[in-house]
Amino acid sequence: MDAAAQPMDACPLCGAGAAVEAQAQTLALAGLGVAHIGFGHCDSCGHIHQVRRASDALLREHYAAYSNYTCFDPQAARAAPPGNLTRRLLSLAEARAPKGMAYEVGCATGYHLTHFRHAGWAVGGCDPSPKAVAQAREIFDIAVDCGTDAQMLPRRGDLALVLFSHVLEHMVDPLAALKLAHAALGPDGVVLLEVPCATAPELVAPGWFTLEHLHYFSEAGITRLLEAAGFAPLELRISFRAELYPVIAVVAAKTGRRVPVGPDALAAAESRRFLEKLIAHDDAIWQATRARLAEVAGPVYVWGAGVHTAQLLDRTPVYGKIKGVIDRDSQKWGSMLADHAIISPDAFFARAEDVPVVISSYNAERQIAQSLSEAGVAARNIVRLYT
Ligand SMILES: [Zn+2]
Repeated sequence: MDAAAQPMDACPLCGAGAAVEAQAQTLALAGLGVAHIGFGHCDSCGHIHQVRRASDALLREHYAAYSNYTCFDPQAARAAPPGNLTRRLLSLAEARAPKGMAYEVGCATGYHLTHFRHAGWAVGGCDPSPKAVAQAREIFDIAVDCGTDAQMLPRRGDLALVLFSHVLEHMVDPLAALKLAHAALGPDGVVLLEVPCATAPELVAPGWFTLEHLHYFSEAGITRLLEAAGFAPLELRISFRAELYPVIAVVAAKTGRRVPVGPDALAAAESRRFLEKLIAHDDAIWQATRARLAEVAGPVYVWGAGVHTAQLLDRTPVYGKIKGVIDRDSQKWGSMLADHAIISPDAFFARAEDVPVVISSYNAERQIAQSLSEAGVAARNIVRLYT
């Protein structure tokens, strides 16, 4: 399937047809063919988003088959203390949310919800991935609805808390989702969310503009979105270095009115400036990556068959050197990434070839290098791109 880009849509927040593209990406995606997407902003309201995105069918298939956030180690997940993200969310909830039913949209295996339950909330949630829903019951004994926010939120009412943890930026229509959350909350209920924050472009990791993220919110931008859905922020917290990029967590209460997103020349100018700096920062990182790869004689294996590898193929000439692609996710084995069938780590190790392995991951580079070393891959054949 060669999925062509959809034409530029109207702005998903204000409806204006004023999209300006700042960066185009052509992504060869495991098992899905090629997607042509573009990132930029709405020159009317300033909203930064994918101004050209992959088709709904491609995104559905991507999430269903390859990016379904399932858990590789149930026992470790059950024993794990709350991670940093869970602790940020819980801290805001403890400060601002009433106790009652906490319902998480896009809850995956329920790894936040289990800690909300320990803290005294009744918990529920929904996720479109049947595998994640099954794991939520199996690992944490949480009954999760299998479906989307649009299918599941209308069946709920009088909720104390609706949680969107790194979910709104994935949604085609985050405003519609927040309006549904508004209707499902009790009068004192709050919405709690965290999203990547479009601030401090010099701090973002390579590949910040990515297939799955359709929207990018600044502090003012997320506030406008919430106000358009009938909420007002009670508290906003930006964490600059907690993740691979700045993030913003917000807890917001219901108000009696919706404030539609309209033209905002200052916000549009702010977005233009942000994008200029971000693109310059991103280009500099990829230039360094190209220089690093130029030192490596081919052929090479690439470790990792995800979206980061699609970006690596788009932004560097590594494709001509690739002998094979390896991924630890069994769902990807046998699928094609461009002209290469993806193989398992075991299949790669069994070949015992004296060939460099390029690690295509920013956030897991160190761990992957360590596991390659432990598996007997010579240090000279382990190619780290970032550290
Ligand atoms: Zn707009």
